[in-house]
Amino acid sequence: MTATRRRSELRRYEALERELREIETRGLLRRPRLIEGPIGTRVLIEGREVLLLCSNDYLGLANHPAVKRAAKAAVENYGAGAGASRLVSGTLSIHEHLEEALARFKGTEAALVFGSGYLANIGAVSSLLQEGDIIYSDELNHASIIDACRLSRATVKVYPHKNADALEGMLARSIACGKRLIVTDGVFSMDGDIAPLPELVRLASEFDCYLMVDDAHATGLLGPEGKGTASHFGLHGLIDIQMGTLSKALGSYGAFVAGSRELIDFLVNRARCFIYTTALPPACVGAALESLCICEREPQRRERLWRNAGFLKKELTSAGFEMGASETYIIPIIIGGAAECVMMAEALLDEGVFAQAIRPPSVPEGASRLRIVPTSEHSADDLEFAVQAFTRAGKKCRII
Ligand SMILES: *Cc1c(COP(=O)(O)O)cnc(C)c1O
Repeated sequence: MTATRRRSELRRYEALERELREIETRGLLRRPRLIEGPIGTRVLIEGREVLLLCSNDYLGLANHPAVKRAAKAAVENYGAGAGASRLVSGTLSIHEHLEEALARFKGTEAALVFGSGYLANIGAVSSLLQEGDIIYSDELNHASIIDACRLSRATVKVYPHKNADALEGMLARSIACGKRLIVTDGVFSMDGDIAPLPELVRLASEFDCYLMVDDAHATGLLGPEGKGTASHFGLHGLIDIQMGTLSKALGSYGAFVAGSRELIDFLVNRARCFIYTTALPPACVGAALESLCICEREPQRRERLWRNAGFLKKELTSAGFEMGASETYIIPIIIGGAAECVMMAEALLDEGVFAQAIRPPSVPEGASRLRIVPTSEHSADDLEFAVQAFTRAGKKCRII
């Protein structure tokens, strides 16, 4: 009995191993890189200090003294965990404070906090749309949006990246019986370009669709006060569903959806990953509240981030690197093949710079890249050092 079980168990695990070997053969095997200590402009990897150029801690808030103090205070005042889901007994005053602050920040009637950006997308999309509805999704949207579309069971029509004309054709051709949603990343996570929101707003209104923007990489960053992509384009009040994360520029964890009172009440009643999951722990909420204040109070952080990104783009372009269509602080250095990309990342680490290789399925086949992101906290010397390191590693790997 035991022997047969062992044999079948062996077979089950052999299947996993086979698949892992196949991933490895294609140069796509992933392993988490260990960071020994907190993140900052520099991190410890294998006991060595290297420049960090691939975190989403754009404004240096993840390890900011005031943000950490706020997280500790929240633990003191509210405990380590919320103890239940929001609709049972997990809604604490601090959750309400954050939701009020987020609605104020976004200039919407209401906001609702979710466990993560992944969950916020799943929650919003899969509760609003159902079988018989249609979702129009940009081809480079984040994986969490793709999964959210699948889970909704709506018909998904993928439109070419940022192509509003193609989208218009698709909208005009499809017959609408149920609801329709246009969904896009605000700032595209792997390319750093910005969604053509004015055109999407026009199309959403003309064809009577909901419009949803994922501002994971725009919250705290884009627009004069960091209020996101809508604010960047001056489209106040014209986006139905604005999702944002607490985990990137705000240096904490969690996410939110901001919109009308009806939308938020609907999500409270219908979004399964809001209802059936434990409320965000107080430490995350406290940290996010403080980060939000810093974001509003210290615009110079955003200015430094944009300046740093501008410097890197200019210097790396003139060093001969190929860059995508970035319009922001996300800078994709396109390498192409997965193996070459890993080799370049390793050569770069030898030179003292950590920039993770991004490979399929995170990016399309043949478009592996180093997605580099400066933060507001990198100094001119740090960036100069990065350019030198990139140039040496690029030459060694025959990329430039
Ligand atoms: C990171 C990211 C998410 C997920 O957010 P988490 O809070 O990390 O779960 C969603 N959408 C986009 C575009 C992202 O980059």
